[in-house]
Amino acid sequence: MFTERVASLHAEGAYAVLARAQALEAQGRKILHLEIGQPDFPTFPNISQAGIEAIQQGQTRYTPPAGIPALRAAIAKSVSNRLGLNIGPARVVVGPGAKPGLFFPSLALVNPGDEVLYPDPGFPTYEAMIKVAGGIPIPIPLREENCFSFDLEVFDARISEKTRLIILNSPANPTGGVISLADLNHIAEKVKEHDTWVMSDEIYAHLVYDGLQLPSIASLPGMLNRTVIVDGFSKTYAMTGWRLGFMVMPEALAERVELLLTHSIGCTATFTQIAGLQALAGPQDHVEEKLNEYKRRRDFFVGGLNAIPGVSCQVPKGAFYSFPNISSFGLASKEIAVRLLDEAGVAVLAGTDFGPGGEGYLRLCYATSMDVLEESLEKMEAWFQSIY
Ligand code: PLP
Repeated sequence: MFTERVASLHAEGAYAVLARAQALEAQGRKILHLEIGQPDFPTFPNISQAGIEAIQQGQTRYTPPAGIPALRAAIAKSVSNRLGLNIGPARVVVGPGAKPGLFFPSLALVNPGDEVLYPDPGFPTYEAMIKVAGGIPIPIPLREENCFSFDLEVFDARISEKTRLIILNSPANPTGGVISLADLNHIAEKVKEHDTWVMSDEIYAHLVYDGLQLPSIASLPGMLNRTVIVDGFSKTYAMTGWRLGFMVMPEALAERVELLLTHSIGCTATFTQIAGLQALAGPQDHVEEKLNEYKRRRDFFVGGLNAIPGVSCQVPKGAFYSFPNISSFGLASKEIAVRLLDEAGVAVLAGTDFGPGGEGYLRLCYATSMDVLEESLEKMEAWFQSIY
């Protein structure tokens, strides 16, 4: 009845579990939420204020489809500083969130029948956008023993002349893993050999712990002109509902993507863009403060997970997700996730909500209060002991 491109789309696990958790809450159950991946605090006040003032001052009209020039310039400067590159504003395209930053360049690059390699487990939008573009999704398993980076043997076997695009995500959702420089170098060599493109989803690039220097494939020799960097304001600045993200890519591709934006969204909300400008131009101490708070929560929560017999969890290097290995219990991840919600009142995602490669794992977001984390650990420990 519908087109092939939408027939295979399905809901994101996080939204489905949230709906089920809310239905239980409506029945009077107390639910601890570890399923949704967003900061638990409001947008920083200086950013909200800039948005409010922009509306009051009448900044409520169309902007150029690729974004207001001042914001594109500020983003270009910020990305250049982070990556040690000299990126001009013409490479930057603003969009309503990072998700359009994934979707539109895929539509511009992938022809029907082209193969696209992507991480499994990985952010569910990757597979969806590949299919909508008519591409063939080729999952590449991630390996826990390699900080959840690609299994490079499989990667080498699956990259071919049919590969058009490779999707990377570091730090990653759902694993919190970071791809090492050595692995990025390996991938970059293959990319050049096979003349393909890379989409590097760096939305968690500002959320890395322990002073780790995060490498980007875009900075490696010969890679800037075959890479689309996708980033945004949602996670770093607690702006998930404002809808603001951006892409950085070669100018010729940016022009095509701007046309796609022109004919689809028109432009990103003007006051949202002005709030984003304030996010970049204003003080960054809130970002630092929240990063320290996430680290405190990570250390507490991952320590607690590892103290549960049968559970083992790597210390995530970035983002705000933990990805414990629960394979020792011998039950499917989905069953464990469903039962943790129904029987223990803790809402979590199954690793398989992110692809078959997530079997044996759960995804738990620790961007929530220490009280919720502590109570969740108690409830989960009791539940896991009851089935051990
Ligand atoms: N990329 C990854 C890896 C994510 O985890 C998310 C959100 O969860 C996004 C992109 C989408 O971000 P946005 O809300 O800015 O569209």
